[in-house]
Amino acid sequence: MSTLKLEIVTAEGVAYSDEVNAVVAPGIEGQLGILPHHAPLMTVLEPGQIMVRKGGEETFMAITGGYLEVRPDKVVILADAAERAEEIDVARAEEARKRAEERLKAAGGSLVDLARAEAALRRSMVRLRVAESVKRRGAARTRPQQ
Ligand code: ATP
Repeated sequence: MSTLKLEIVTAEGVAYSDEVNAVVAPGIEGQLGILPHHAPLMTVLEPGQIMVRKGGEETFMAITGGYLEVRPDKVVILADAAERAEEIDVARAEEARKRAEERLKAAGGSLVDLARAEAALRRSMVRLRVAESVKRRGAARTRPQQ
């Protein structure tokens, strides 16, 4: 099976680096599936879920937005923040969501406060969604066969 080199880089360092079979990322115009030998491309990513397939295994990550570049030799995702689903602190994301909702209510007429609170709310919702969907997949996998 052919592979592509994938690097996910954040301000904090390399979040993921491996030879993989496929990547699905949240492009601004919808889900973007990248297979080996994809044509060069540069696009903006929305906050959302990244799925990486390597062999029979799928890895899920939350990203809070960034850029994806398909180069001839590798695919690079530059993300503001990226966490593997299993690393997401759900309690922290819940707290962030509550804080953002309170700030949205209190923002009044300030567009800057509103935009910041909306962005924080979106980040927290993406983290909660990615953590939850991986938990559900795990539960489905361990469910006894009928
Ligand atoms: P918070 O208010 O909880 O810090 P935030 O949305 O402001 O959330 P970010 O600025 O997006 O946080 O991220 C800051 C750093 O914290 C990044 O390294 C990110 O990966 C990490 N991070 C944020 N929230 C979580 C979480 N719920 N679980 C694990 N890591 C997180």
